[in-house]
Amino acid sequence: MRIVHVNGEYFPEDQARVSVFDRGFLFADAVYEVTSVLDGKLIDFPGHAARLARSLAELDMDMPVTEEEILSIHREMVTRNDITDGLVYLQVTRGAVDRDFLFPEDAQPTIVLFTQAKPGLADSPAARTGLKVVTLPDRRWGRRDIKTVQLLYPSMAKTEAKRQGADDAWLVEDGHVTEGTSNNAYIVRNGTIVTRQLGEEILHGITRRAVLAFAREAQMKVEERPFTVEEARSAEEAFVTSASAFVMPVVEIDGRPVGDGQPGPVARRLREIYLEESRKAAI
Ligand code: PLP
Repeated sequence: MRIVHVNGEYFPEDQARVSVFDRGFLFADAVYEVTSVLDGKLIDFPGHAARLARSLAELDMDMPVTEEEILSIHREMVTRNDITDGLVYLQVTRGAVDRDFLFPEDAQPTIVLFTQAKPGLADSPAARTGLKVVTLPDRRWGRRDIKTVQLLYPSMAKTEAKRQGADDAWLVEDGHVTEGTSNNAYIVRNGTIVTRQLGEEILHGITRRAVLAFAREAQMKVEERPFTVEEARSAEEAFVTSASAFVMPVVEIDGRPVGDGQPGPVARRLREIYLEESRKAAI
């Protein structure tokens, strides 16, 4: 049985409890982070801690504990749950108070962490075959740069993608791809990697930042700009990035193959570099 962290204490998962008045439950008034674990070590923890602090600040929520404490809780969770490869999920909510739309002045934030074991996380078969995506309208709210737990639309979109026989959806606004349901989206055209620029329309992926830095170091050309569905359909390659999928090739968009329908060399190379460098820097 897993061990779950709630507000400074560790519980067997069936004994971990949060109040029904928690604003995370009633208002999705909560932010989260997912950090990968490879070989028992955390991948890019400083990036996730920095984004957590930013998400909280954007919502006028306090950091419940210091970054050092968050790191030590993560490590404790990895040890107590015996995670070699997997994920650590962290959620901070504004806390439990009587239901009211106004932000409370005096709420104590709730902090919850749990783990998911994913043996062979870095060696998933999907990385060899690539993903199929369909495009769907982006109907999320306007502050997608804040990593909130309002994940209903992304869940609907992923479920619809599965219904259509695909693995995931790329979300589209004004004819341009914003991102995937839980990942950042990229295409390769004329040898240049194209991905949407940072803004309020997308989540500022921690993997995105690292992958773009590695791409530039490897002298690959990168353009950060919106791209259209048409550009994606006629791209040489496509791929997504996220903390749990790393770099994952996309081989089909809306039922049509991307390039030759196989994972492309840019995505494969970036995956290799990302995994190698991240493992080296893991803590
Ligand atoms: N975009 C969205 C909407 C996401 O939910 C995620 C991850 O959950 C990402 C992008 C990728 O971000 P990261 O690389 O930090 O996992």
